[in-house]
Amino acid sequence: MSDYVKELMAMVKAKNQAEPEFHQAVQEVADSLSLVLERHPEYRTARILERIVEPERIIVFRVPWVDSKGDVNVNRGFRIEMNSAIGPYKGGLRFHPSVNLGILKFLAFEQVFKNSLTTLPMGGGKGGSDFDPKGKSDVDVMRFCQAFMNELFRHIGPDTDVPAGDIGVGGREIGYLFGQYKKLRNEFTGVLTGKGLNWGGSLIRPEATGYGSVYFAAEMLGTRRQTLEGKKCLVSGSGNVAQYTTEKIIQLGGKVVTLSDSNGYIYDEEGITKEKLAFLMELKNVRRGRMKEYTDKYKSAVYAPLTGKEEFNPLWNHKADCAFPSATQNEINEKDARNLVHNGVYVVSEGANMPTMPDGVKVFLDAKILYGPGKAANAGGVSTSGLEMSQNAMRLAWSREEVDSRLHGIMKNIHKTCVTFAERFGTPGNYVNGANIGGFLKVADAMMDQGVV
Ligand code: NAP
Repeated sequence: MSDYVKELMAMVKAKNQAEPEFHQAVQEVADSLSLVLERHPEYRTARILERIVEPERIIVFRVPWVDSKGDVNVNRGFRIEMNSAIGPYKGGLRFHPSVNLGILKFLAFEQVFKNSLTTLPMGGGKGGSDFDPKGKSDVDVMRFCQAFMNELFRHIGPDTDVPAGDIGVGGREIGYLFGQYKKLRNEFTGVLTGKGLNWGGSLIRPEATGYGSVYFAAEMLGTRRQTLEGKKCLVSGSGNVAQYTTEKIIQLGGKVVTLSDSNGYIYDEEGITKEKLAFLMELKNVRRGRMKEYTDKYKSAVYAPLTGKEEFNPLWNHKADCAFPSATQNEINEKDARNLVHNGVYVVSEGANMPTMPDGVKVFLDAKILYGPGKAANAGGVSTSGLEMSQNAMRLAWSREEVDSRLHGIMKNIHKTCVTFAERFGTPGNYVNGANIGGFLKVADAMMDQGVV
């Protein structure tokens, strides 16, 4: 680690105490940038990195709401407007009890580089609440979303800040949020993405993150003249990203054998077929049930409960070729990474944000496997959000084929950018460096052009 990075990290830790996920995300990017800053001292003089780690604006607000039993609830709402050098703030909203300032700052920070990689004009942001939609009725979710938007509406807009979904925020929540925004502002604009198809949404947006992560894996495999055909794949999570990752792997001839939620995981030796996936989607998206119910229906699968406190996650300890972590941050520790490599996994494409802990990343890089970090591999979601914004601005709707082909093209470009910058800065095959450097340069140059603001 260079002295400059050491000093930067000491400053970040002192100024942002008790935010370990944010420190982790900054450390990884700063490590990748050492060589860039050596070659480009002008970025240091302009204190670009010191500015990039400081959010342009943080909004924290009270969300009081009355549930259907008549009880008063109080949650905390956040929006981190991280960087607008290349476009309006853009990034998801997360509703999960674990949400805090540090987690949202790490996500907003990652989003800046990810959005830059997409080649679309989008800055970085992230937000959410410690509200837990799990087990809540539709009416209570609506009441919460309305109360949340009662404050958020004054900070966002189609040219200012355009939120989307993330963990706990899917089509249902975006609908309630959009409805309330429209009522308060009295305008119908593309202020949120992930909207319903009848009211401004884009085809392929629900599929985009999962599809994109598989397209990215296919590109990485392509560098070894291989495809996903016949590959055995481990997928974690069972939400939006995991579902469409599974769908695309099946389409491309791969075999998915695991899925999970926060209570446990299933291993289905025979593979998850289209029919089984349709059952899972109904279970998760309509009945809002638990993963375990999959094994009640399909006897080929076994279920293992997880507490999250295990020394390692048994989901990552099966023989396979590829892994698609698609649940949450820090779900692969060093031991999990070793287990994966030991079991033959040589492709890891991160659908989730920062799912691999730094020691795990080191295991992947040392083993020289094809490791696609989240900010590159899962950028398909925000890319298609960008396409939704373009369609809204033009008041047009593209066909499924058109959006999918643009998404595919963007993922190929992101892959190419990673490969190019990894090589240019002396670490061929290192997608972590490639993504961080490629994402950084565009934002840094825009900040240089725009002066100290
Ligand atoms: P989602 O639909 O809410 O699904 C999240 C899944 O992960 C659920 O199966 C959930 O299980 C599981 N999970 C969440 N927290 C967990 C924890 N602490 N331990 C174990 N399992 C956990 O969310 P999503 O949109 O698929 O997002 C998944 C990941 O992808 C996140 O890291 C997100 O930031 C990232 N991502 C999403 C998008 C997007 O477009 N949606 C784009 C880029 C990146 P339970 O149901 O039990 O909670």
